[in-house]
Amino acid sequence: MANSEDVELDGATVLAKSLKSQGVEYMFGIVGVPVIEVAMAAQAEGIKYIGMRNEQAASYAASAIGYMTGRPAVCLVVSGPGLVHAFAGMSNAMENCWPLIVVGGSCDAYQEGMGGFQEYPQVSSAKSFCKYSARPSSIDRIPFFVEKAVRQSIYGRPGCSYIDLPGDMITQKIPDSRIRMLKKCPPAPLILADPVCVKQAVDVLSAAKRPLVVVGKGAAYSQSENSIKEFITSWNLPFLPTPMGKGVLPDNHPLCVSSARSKALQEADVILLLGARLNWILHFGLPPRFHKDVQIIQVDIFPEELGNNVGKWLGLVGNINSVVQQLLDETNRRTCKPTIISSDPWWKLLQQKMSTNQTTFEEMVSDTSTPLNYYAALSEIQKAIPKDSIIVNEGANTMDIGRVMLLNTLPRHRLDAGTFGTMGVGLGFAVAAAIWCRDHAPGKRVVCVQGDSAFGFSGMEIETLQRYNLPIVLIILNNSGISFGIDQDTWTSMESAGDMTLLSPPTSLKPNTHYEKIMEAFGGRGYFVNNIEELRRSLTEAVQMKDQSSLINVSINPMAQRKPQNFFWLTKSKM
Ligand code: ADP
Repeated sequence: MANSEDVELDGATVLAKSLKSQGVEYMFGIVGVPVIEVAMAAQAEGIKYIGMRNEQAASYAASAIGYMTGRPAVCLVVSGPGLVHAFAGMSNAMENCWPLIVVGGSCDAYQEGMGGFQEYPQVSSAKSFCKYSARPSSIDRIPFFVEKAVRQSIYGRPGCSYIDLPGDMITQKIPDSRIRMLKKCPPAPLILADPVCVKQAVDVLSAAKRPLVVVGKGAAYSQSENSIKEFITSWNLPFLPTPMGKGVLPDNHPLCVSSARSKALQEADVILLLGARLNWILHFGLPPRFHKDVQIIQVDIFPEELGNNVGKWLGLVGNINSVVQQLLDETNRRTCKPTIISSDPWWKLLQQKMSTNQTTFEEMVSDTSTPLNYYAALSEIQKAIPKDSIIVNEGANTMDIGRVMLLNTLPRHRLDAGTFGTMGVGLGFAVAAAIWCRDHAPGKRVVCVQGDSAFGFSGMEIETLQRYNLPIVLIILNNSGISFGIDQDTWTSMESAGDMTLLSPPTSLKPNTHYEKIMEAFGGRGYFVNNIEELRRSLTEAVQMKDQSSLINVSINPMAQRKPQNFFWLTKSKM
């Protein structure tokens, strides 16, 4: 029964209050019928609303906040097509194991089954793209569903939750005395590995002749950098970050063997795998990329992951932070503390390989002929950007070569195409990183380095950045194509020869496109760069402009590629 002092709340407000009580700080989205009220209610509760230009980018942005902070952000979408577009970010979050909450408006419940406006089986469809998908059974139960959605997104293996709200529930009213808010869901509980397995793991590592630690993005997500650093340095173990494991320990750390990656993976006899799956990114843990007798010590929160694609394995199920602490405690208990000495043949082999590989890069970097190659351009970018920048990096060659050339010194400062290999995530991630920096790390720069094709997926998000005054340095390595393109002269002669839908290579984009003009159109600074001096000058200016975004469009040789690879299975898996 309502009493006379009751305030009436609508469904949008109940949802916003529930999200706020769960610690949600950001909502990214696109409004329309029936969710305009939801965005306004969120703002009224102090949740920052960032209106984006397509739902894909909004869902990518929200998931990046989940990865960087360990708490989910919300992506708000309209019914039907709005939700379908957000499936992109939901699946990307699931594949990357990142928390995300998607809230979708849906057609009024009383019209369901009648062909209502944008009617779609949203809850059942969303199920394929998330861990938890539900519609609150009534307005007063919204807080229950929100708490559950948040808990599901961060407990166990992190992932996506979907909450469906019919239009009539959004506008329905209820006396506030009938709403019971739930307390903020605490962080995921600590899970410790079986102490017997911990002892075995230390035994196996101590007996290893060629040990290696692989640091994955699960280690970055779980904020385990301090314990991992202590463990790796106390043993003097060589380590390799995966693409988004970069920065858990600095890429320039003396124990980092990234520049001997292939050798280290091929020869290691014991690998301690911290928060990384043996999927395509790690060549499935199989020969010839891994040693046929390699023993894997797998540390993961998700027991079902253990043994996946692996011959010899020892599983340690638990939070990386607590399990690494267990490994440290076990090490410290031993009278003879294990350490791998630098004069060890294993270390010598890796050092030798690193210096040979370094020479190959130096050759590519020193070739500054025009049009520029990727190595020369990325080396210049690496020199110019602040070392604590958040680096967003995507594109084919731009990302592959960027993984080697652009270094990270801090954890969760690298955002790329990830496990799903999703191109087009860049600007959504950059928006999220820039708003997070504005609020939590003022002065820190966001540098987004994309290929021209990757940029095209969400180029209009430049307007979003400018609307909210979120300064980033956006660099497009423009090779006029997807992986490779063709030069202007060839393009022109093809155009005069006939129909481009029949003639132009499917990988081609228009040569000499001036993407920097888009940034200028929205009030930012644009540069078109042809050579290394122009790149140097524009980078110096762009990095100094802390309150304005810039776009540096770098003309890259359309045929420029990665350095020649020694192993065919870098491009073709031998399963
Ligand atoms: P990468 O792309 O770096 O190889 P993956 O995304 O393949 O990394 O793997 C990340 C792994 O980390 C997943 O298997 C996930 O279950 C695991 N993980 C996520 N959070 C934690 C945590 N807190 N503790 C332990 N493992 C975690």
